[in-house]
Parts: sequence; structure tokens; C-alpha cells
Amino acid sequence: MELRREQLIHKGKANNVFSTNAGDILELEASDRISAGNGERRDVIEGKGVVNNVISMYCFKLLEKNGIKTHFISEGSNECSKFVKKLDMIMLEVINRRYTAGSFCERFGCEAGVEIVPSGVEFSLKSDELGDPFIPKFAIKALGIATEEEIQYMEETTAKVSDILSEYFDSLGVRLIDFKIEFGRDMDGNIVIGDEISPDTCRLVDKVTGEKFDKDLFRQNLGGVGEAYRKILERVKG
Ligand code: ADP
Ligand code: UDP
Repeated sequence: MELRREQLIHKGKANNVFSTNAGDILELEASDRISAGNGERRDVIEGKGVVNNVISMYCFKLLEKNGIKTHFISEGSNECSKFVKKLDMIMLEVINRRYTAGSFCERFGCEAGVEIVPSGVEFSLKSDELGDPFIPKFAIKALGIATEEEIQYMEETTAKVSDILSEYFDSLGVRLIDFKIEFGRDMDGNIVIGDEISPDTCRLVDKVTGEKFDKDLFRQNLGGVGEAYRKILERVKG
């Protein structure tokens, strides 16, 4: 069956979600919208949607090749979109850290750039109202967000994803500092990775020069966001 987009069902901070002519498939479109501080600062970066979508699709294909289940089905109806399995999203942001950065340094008062071996996985509650707070595992269970087994699966899978993506970016001369992924349950109740894997959700820097290729440029108001995203796309395209 040829997939066709139907209604816009969710306009998120960065992505548009459409229903399709297949009940269990969505079309996820990366927009040029960018935001920081849970939507407090907003802008539009021309060309960001294409970059994020191409990189995201590449990463999902790479993970699938390595036996990791994701929601990715196929390229979408335009260069900013992809068709994905519709998931019942688990309201967690699963973060993996390979080097200290960002909120980790703020919370623990440490310097940035210290290697974390083995890489660490932590969970935040996905809630704009609450500012995506850190959530301990006992609370994930107590609040009925996920079971012990599901938490363990997400932790183990995220660590594997980290090693696969890190090896890949390393081959492009890029260091993966940290990233966020989201999981959801498919129609059969299996947990798979959803959402996106892009410079909006990963910290990526040049291994030699430390040049940033990710959303930190916007978060820190450093400028050059579009150019940096185009540069990382060039490396991914080879
Ligand atoms: P937000 O909604 O937090 O502003 P986005 O702009 O990225 O974030 O919007 C995309 C939304 O689609 C997110 O809420 C994300 O959890 C959700 N999503 C991602 N993949 C899927 C999927 N396969 N099935 C259902 N929802 C998804
Ligand atoms: N991240 C994300 N969405 C969020 C919060 C974090 O994609 O809502 C990503 C972020 O890009 C980084 C990693 O998760 O790669 C760790 O982010 P951190 O907890 O340090 O938070 P931040 O400094 O971005 O507030």
C-alpha cells in the first residue's frame, strides 16, 4: 500500500506529526523550528529540518542493522520526513552521557569534557510543565511509567545505542558527548526507539578542534547554527 499523509495531529516544538492512510503508521516531519529552555527561546533555522531528518534516518537504519528495534519504516513524502510505526510513547527522556556536559555539570558542579567510562544512562520525566526533571528508577516504577524489566531494557539498549553511534561518529572525526532518546510501545506491546536522533538531541563536536555541530550553539546563543548543522550533514553524507 502506498503511504499517504493525512491530518496534522501534533505540532511539537520542533516536529510535526501526521496521521497516514495506515492506522498504525505516522509521518514525522522535522521542521526548521528550534527552541531552548523548554520553548522559552524560539527561532527558525532554515534547512535544519532536512539535516535532522537525514541524520535521524541514517542513525535509525544503522541501529536496525545492529539489531536494535526502532520505529523507522521508510523515507517520508518529502526530504524532511519519515514514515514511522505509531507508538504509545513512554514519557521519559533517556539520556546517555559519554563525557560530562550541560545539565550534568550544572547539577554536580563539575567541569565539562571529562570522559565517563562506562557511559552512563539516566532518565528524565518528559514534561514541559515540570521542566523535564530527573526521575529515579523507583519513581518510574511507582508512577506506573514503566516496569522493572522495561527500565532495564531501556538502559541496556541505550548503552548499546551509545556504543554504535559513538563508533559511527568517531569514524567521521566527531565525538559523541551525550544524547537523548525516547522509547514507545508498538501495537504488539514491544518497546522500540521512537522520536529522532539528530543534532537537536545529541551533543556532537569535532574530535580535534572541539567545533560544535549541535543545538548547544543555539542554547548558548553562539550563532552559526545553520552552518554547523550543514557541516555535520556533509560529514554524514560522506
Ligand atoms: P514536543 O512534542 O516535545 O515538542 P517534538 O516537536 O519532537 O517534541 O514532537 C514530536 C512528538 O512526537 C513528541 O512528542 C514525540 O514524543 C512524539 N513521537 C515521536 N515518535 C513517535 C511515534 N513513533 N509515535 C508516536 N509519537 C511519536
Ligand atoms: N536533550 C534533548 N532534549 C531535552 C533535554 C536534553 O534532546 O529535552 C539532549 C541534549 O541535546 C543532550 C543530552 O540530551 O545531548 C543531555 O542534555 P542535558 O541533560 O545536559 O540537558 P541540557 O544541558 O540540554 O539542558
